[in-house]
Amino acid sequence: MNEATRRPARAGRRIPEPFRIKMVEAIRQTNEPERRAALDAAGLNPFLLRSEDVYIDLMTDSGTGAMSDAQWGALMRGDEAYAGSRSFYRLAETVEQMFGYPYTIPTHQGRGAEQILFPELVARRGSSQPVFLSNYHFDTTKAHVEIAGARALNVLTPEALDTSTYYDWKGNFDLAALEAQIESLGAAHIAGIIATITCNSAGGQPVSMANLRAASEIARRHAIPMVIDAARFAENAWFIREREAGYEGVAIGDIVREMFGYGDMFTMSAKKDGLVNIGGLCCFRSDTELFRAVQVRCVPLEGFVTYGGLTGRDMEALATGLREGIELAWLDYRIAQVAYLGERLRAGGVPIQYPTGGHAVFVDARKMLPHIPPEHFPGHALACELYLQGGVRAVEIGSLMLGRNPATGAQEPSEFELMRLTIPRRVYTNDHMDYIADALLAVNARAGAIRGLEFTYEPPVLRHFMARLRWRQGD
Ligand SMILES: *Cc1c(COP(=O)(O)O)cnc(C)c1O
Repeated sequence: MNEATRRPARAGRRIPEPFRIKMVEAIRQTNEPERRAALDAAGLNPFLLRSEDVYIDLMTDSGTGAMSDAQWGALMRGDEAYAGSRSFYRLAETVEQMFGYPYTIPTHQGRGAEQILFPELVARRGSSQPVFLSNYHFDTTKAHVEIAGARALNVLTPEALDTSTYYDWKGNFDLAALEAQIESLGAAHIAGIIATITCNSAGGQPVSMANLRAASEIARRHAIPMVIDAARFAENAWFIREREAGYEGVAIGDIVREMFGYGDMFTMSAKKDGLVNIGGLCCFRSDTELFRAVQVRCVPLEGFVTYGGLTGRDMEALATGLREGIELAWLDYRIAQVAYLGERLRAGGVPIQYPTGGHAVFVDARKMLPHIPPEHFPGHALACELYLQGGVRAVEIGSLMLGRNPATGAQEPSEFELMRLTIPRRVYTNDHMDYIADALLAVNARAGAIRGLEFTYEPPVLRHFMARLRWRQGD
């Protein structure tokens, strides 16, 4: 389906909040001199700001959502037994009912699931050159693949690289490339195929059911385990209902069941669509031998197999949050809110990854600031200016985050120079979206005068977190 045929009803439409507010947290608006002082003290790095100095925080949608009254109520039911907690069984039953996976291991967050599963998949393959293939490995996923001694290769549909052209499924696997990689590397070396839904790194873009089905058929044909990286499973299911032929009007819960039927196991960061502030899952459909082996790894790394780093009350909040996450009224509002922000920016001439995905609007800083070369970090410069303009904190996804080539030490240009506006769940209202759009449009109006940045301190690894910078004089 393309733009002409998709149902236009929701594009840019403002859907009122499907909740009312029972408790509020004050946030403080600052003035420009205060923001300038705070950003200077942070070495022109929004990661180093205090959250008190931020008016609207769009750094991440991970663990930043608001829990419901039902979740806060569920906390009180937490059974804090070390082993065999009632709360664990409630969580495991919820997982089995929703996803069809009877074997559940709770973990402290998504990366906890990755660290206990991947080494076991690698060990099973018994290859000296193990590889994981994914539509796109999330950054901690890639890190845990590499820690497990394997390589992480991405086979993402090429449409994802073109931010301005509409395509329904920018999270899809490039199926031909997937087949070709398996042919050339040899199936015996592929430790797993990881389907990331939605595809975070491509802009929260969805994977179609047809693509998931085809990828799983390829996996089965070659006897390769199929892993679902399920952080934004509910948003992905909503896109399938909205855009894919045959799924119009189908219940989100049924779409979720079908999606997970194409996997053998899943890892989940529950801090996203699970609607909790901390938590994760590692679950299996039928391979009890693998399940037991991963349980063995869980005990020393995450904790005993019925709590995995979570409290009983965390597991209660998650069991409730998983169900709330697939409510249609919630998802309609959630994805419309992100699209509304995107449409306002587009209408004002700000280039974005289009269409918007489930959890964030990605601004194309390379197009917005063409005078700033990659090595002077246009996405990061834009994030600094947005903070100075309105106290809005965003994050760069580009050359600053990519880092240097470890072999040559050279700064390589990133495929993307983006600034991500990530929308926390149930936290900000549509009025906040207007405020964010107004601030970014004001920055866009003076885009030509924005300068690039250079380091005053460059950390050797993961430099974007701790780097300190200054404005360049030249750009
Ligand atoms: C957040 C995320 C992870 C890692 O989960 P954490 O809870 O942050 O450890 C893995 N994969 C995807 C797609 C994610 O978005």
